[in-house]
Formats: sequence, structure tokens, C-alpha cells
Amino acid sequence: MQTLVADHPLIAHKLTALRDIGTETPVFRSLTDELVTLLAYEATRDVRVEHVAVQTPVARADGMRLSRPKPLVIPVLRAGIGMLDGMARLLPKADVGFVGLARDEETLVASTYATRLPADLTGRDTFVLDPMLATGGTLVTVFKMLASRGAASMTAICLLAAPEGIARLAAAFQDIPIPVKVVTAGLDERLNERGYIVPGLGDAGDRLFGVI
Ligand code: URA
Repeated sequence: MQTLVADHPLIAHKLTALRDIGTETPVFRSLTDELVTLLAYEATRDVRVEHVAVQTPVARADGMRLSRPKPLVIPVLRAGIGMLDGMARLLPKADVGFVGLARDEETLVASTYATRLPADLTGRDTFVLDPMLATGGTLVTVFKMLASRGAASMTAICLLAAPEGIARLAAAFQDIPIPVKVVTAGLDERLNERGYIVPGLGDAGDRLFGVI
């Protein structure tokens, strides 16, 4: 598994504002949106493309277009929804699937309550949107769903990751014969006893959508 911590001053600037407890929901949402677009640029570096020729007003030009089948973007409900617009800005033609997982705050185990994915993902690059890679339980579950449907590659885009989650994901998919990647704006110190990333940014879903 490849882990890419995006190293860019603009990403660091936006991430710092995102972490700030004083950043309110509307600003938090637009910062998330902007950060995801920047991360998506890195995350799609190896997306499958094919050669195509176009006629310019002057001459014929060789170029590239996204290969078929189209990539699939999967926001993990609920917080991943806050990342969808930022991703769609870069990949507007991608299809969108959904997986809903809720974490039990006592056991920290995530259980699936909704799935809307194509049955066959053969040949498709997949991009999972989940802001916080904490214990890794959610992403292990989602990646297993995608791998069992035949995905050609699996990339998670996360605002923040914890070393524990990265290690769990790497162990779970060390023998898989397809590219597996995590792209994140920051790799933090650790998880606390409640499974929160430290220093992190708190509960991403609550900060994006309020405490409900
Ligand atoms: N989920 C969050 O929203 N925040 C964390 O720190 C960990 C998991």
C-alpha cells in the first residue's frame, strides 16, 4: 500500500484553519471542499487514461481521455458527503456510489447500514472519500467490498490519518494484487482512548454538518 502525505504550503494552510476549534461550519465546509480538490489532484495521478486524437483549429493533436469504464467515487456516509463536491470538481464524469458506516463509540467498531455500489467493478479505478482515517476499520470494510467486486485500484482520500489506521490498512491489503493508496493532507501523532485522532480536528461529521 502506498501512503501519500500531500506536502504543499496551501494544503498545510487550509488544514491548519480546518483544525482550529474556532472555525465554524460554513468555513469548515468550504475548506474541506478546497482541500479535497487539491488532494484529488494527487490521488488521480495514476487514473487510467487512453490515447485520443482531436482536431484543433490548426492541426491534429494527440491527447488523452479517461478510460472506460469510468472511475467510481464513493463517499462514506455521513462525513464523506462533505468531500463529494470537491472531488466531483476534478472528476465530474465519475459515477458515484455510497456506503454508510456508523462507528459504535464504545467498541469503536464500524457497522454498515447502507450500500449502493455497482455489483461489478471490473476495470474501474475507485476513490473512497472518508475524512478521518482513525482505527482503519471503516476503510478496511469499504476496501473489502470494492476488492470483492473486482475494482482495478482503490484509493482513499482522507483529510487526516493516524499511524494506527495506516498500519491496519497496510496489513489488511498487503497481499492484494491491485494498487491500494491513501492520500491525506496530514499524518497525525496517534489515536486517543476514544479513537479520535490527536491532535486531529475533532468529529469531522459534526463539524461539517452539526451535532444531530
Ligand atoms: N472520526 C472523526 O470524525 N474524528 C476522529 O478524530 C476520528 C474519527
